[in-house]
Amino acid sequence: MAQVILRDVSKVYANGVKAVDGVNLTIGDREFVVLVGPSGCGKSTTLRMVAGLEDISGGEIRIGERIVNDVAPKDRDIAMVFQNYALYPHMTVYQNMAFALRLRRRHKGWANPLAMMVAPARYRAAREELAGIDRRVRDAAAMLGIENLLSRRPQALSGGQRQRVAVGRAIVREPKAFLFDEPLSNLDAKLRIEMRAEIKRLHRRVQTTTIYVTHDQEEAMTLGDRVVVMKDGMIHQVGSPLEVYERPANRFVAGFVGTPPMNFFEGALVAVGGGLTFDMGFAKLAIAPRHQVLLEKFAGRPLVMGARPETLHLVPVQCGQRFPAHVTVTEPLGDRVDVYFDTPGQKHLVCRVDSRHRAAENQPADIHVEMDRVHFFNPVDQGRSVLRDVAT
Ligand code: ADP
Repeated sequence: MAQVILRDVSKVYANGVKAVDGVNLTIGDREFVVLVGPSGCGKSTTLRMVAGLEDISGGEIRIGERIVNDVAPKDRDIAMVFQNYALYPHMTVYQNMAFALRLRRRHKGWANPLAMMVAPARYRAAREELAGIDRRVRDAAAMLGIENLLSRRPQALSGGQRQRVAVGRAIVREPKAFLFDEPLSNLDAKLRIEMRAEIKRLHRRVQTTTIYVTHDQEEAMTLGDRVVVMKDGMIHQVGSPLEVYERPANRFVAGFVGTPPMNFFEGALVAVGGGLTFDMGFAKLAIAPRHQVLLEKFAGRPLVMGARPETLHLVPVQCGQRFPAHVTVTEPLGDRVDVYFDTPGQKHLVCRVDSRHRAAENQPADIHVEMDRVHFFNPVDQGRSVLRDVAT
């Protein structure tokens, strides 16, 4: 068990690409942290630097008490699970899982009948060592429900089974930290959700410090104790899934986390008769009482309002204001419907409503906004959340 600490970590590849740019992050002992962001944001590079598979161009990485910048991957006491599983094809599942442990045996070569005669104590120690490995492999296999596959080779396994073996191989090593690099990307949607739950259960049980990389924000939100949202080699926000969802630090995080994504409306904050209003040109929305004081200093300034699809409605809501829209497409999802609409100012906005309130396509509609749940972002300065800034 161990903390993992990244201090000012950077990576510049030989071709000049700055893949990671001054990352600072502390992953607590037993914590499950997910690095998430769009493709190319530097999350795999960050993970690979922790694993020792990439050199660090600048900064420092600590695993436990040790600075590992110059420590070889095999000596870092971490176990990595890859997207492509990376199993040895010529070995059985059992052999794949036992391989790393067998390699680091202290009494290697002493478990044979000859040793029994010439060095019985050594022989016994070697047999005990093998029995210990056997126990660890079988315990991990039982935990993952793959006991019946131990004698199979990888080519005789399904994708999900292979992934379980790859995870099992990591568990048996009882490392200081698990590193997962998009481990579920090769699985179909249903299996991915199953494996996701399995990995979470497993972490609850073994409680090993875990760093998990994914581009899938839903996977990140469901798995992580904390989520690290990255873009362009930099961390944009670190927080619990709920924190990142409810208090996004900036417009990028707000738009990246959540499906369907947050809607953004351009406008300006204006003072009208003692209260503040968000003026979008085609409609004016009264700012919620709880935001009035917080937003006072932005009066007269352009701002971007963010509203999650579930805070927009087709029926009047308490604390609501409304604006005119034109419904373009509806997507029924069973219990709810995603209603896509345009406003005079913007296209491709979406609200998620109860299926009883299905709107007709190609019709005008009034969209009601829960004004006390909206966000405001600076139109410049990387779109920083202004409510978050003034509230903290
Ligand atoms: P992610 O995992 O978030 O998709 P990566 O860490 O793989 O992103 O890549 C970050 C950036 O570094 C990308 O621009 C990518 O093209 C670049 N990159 C990754 N690996 C290499 C490499 N071996 N050589 C040069 N550039 C690389």
